Amino acid sequence: MVLAELGGSLSKAIHRMTNAMIIDDKVLDDCLNEIARALLQADVRFNLISDMQANIRKTVNLNDIAAGHNKRKIIQQAIFDELCNMLNPGKPPCFTPKRGKTSVVMFVGLQGSGKTTTCSKYAHYHQKKGWNPALICADTFRAGAFDQLKQNAAKVKIPFYGRPMESDPVKVAVEGVERFKKENCDLIIVDTSGRHKQQAELFEEMRQVSEATKPDLVVFVMDGSIGQAAFEQARAFKQSVAVGAVIVTKMDSHAKGGGALSAVAATESPVIFIGTGEHMDEFQVFDVKPFVSRLLG
Ligand code: GDP
Repeated sequence: MVLAELGGSLSKAIHRMTNAMIIDDKVLDDCLNEIARALLQADVRFNLISDMQANIRKTVNLNDIAAGHNKRKIIQQAIFDELCNMLNPGKPPCFTPKRGKTSVVMFVGLQGSGKTTTCSKYAHYHQKKGWNPALICADTFRAGAFDQLKQNAAKVKIPFYGRPMESDPVKVAVEGVERFKKENCDLIIVDTSGRHKQQAELFEEMRQVSEATKPDLVVFVMDGSIGQAAFEQARAFKQSVAVGAVIVTKMDSHAKGGGALSAVAATESPVIFIGTGEHMDEFQVFDVKPFVSRLLG
């Protein structure tokens, strides 16, 4: 179920409830079950859904709602709040880079997630706002990673550092960070590998790059269409590096909303941007309330 369909199913469930003659426990249960089915089909983890149902039932006690109060509105608000909660990591906001102060932001994620594209979009987004970003290719595993990031950087005129003949990603990352610090760049972005011969090696490499570059923020990049695998994938990265934020890519086409909800739960980190296309400008700040409002129609 793609994101637009999820929105359609959720708003249908709510409309059915609001159109019922009498709002009783049966109508509430039917509505919550319909919402649960829609979320499951959109790849939201079962545990998150059952917690959500329990929370709504706790908030909405139909017998306790005084006459004259609008039960439909109370239920609608509870559903809205719970969906927002699912996208809220329940922690203080993650580190946000500040203008005029150098920040290092390390990007992690599996190959194909859209990490390299997203690094460039993130740099371009900040550049348009007057920042002085720089890009470093610390992916020494994938042939082509160097050229891809270099070309992206050239397209949007952002300084780039990489060494195509060097095999040690830690060395390249550290050299790049040192160079751009000297050049007074205020947003130093480190792109990393997304694949290794063994997955354990990838996570060890992430740990080493992170330890050596001491990023202010680690961003986990996730393909929005990966579905149920999102939770485990996000958690695996979180266990090796201090993921502080999530960016969900490919929200334009076959993306299911559920992966984003699971990644937030697994990393206890907020979604900060979403990717909505292959081009540099197809990148949006992620805002929970408008996103949920849109979903509910
Ligand atoms: P990496 O292996 O994680 O570095 O992934 P890449 O940045 O090379 O991206 C993999 C593919 O996904 C490329 O074809 C990108 O153009 C595409 N891609 C990345 N972000 C988006 C997005 O938000 N929407 C769409 N439709 N495609 C994207």
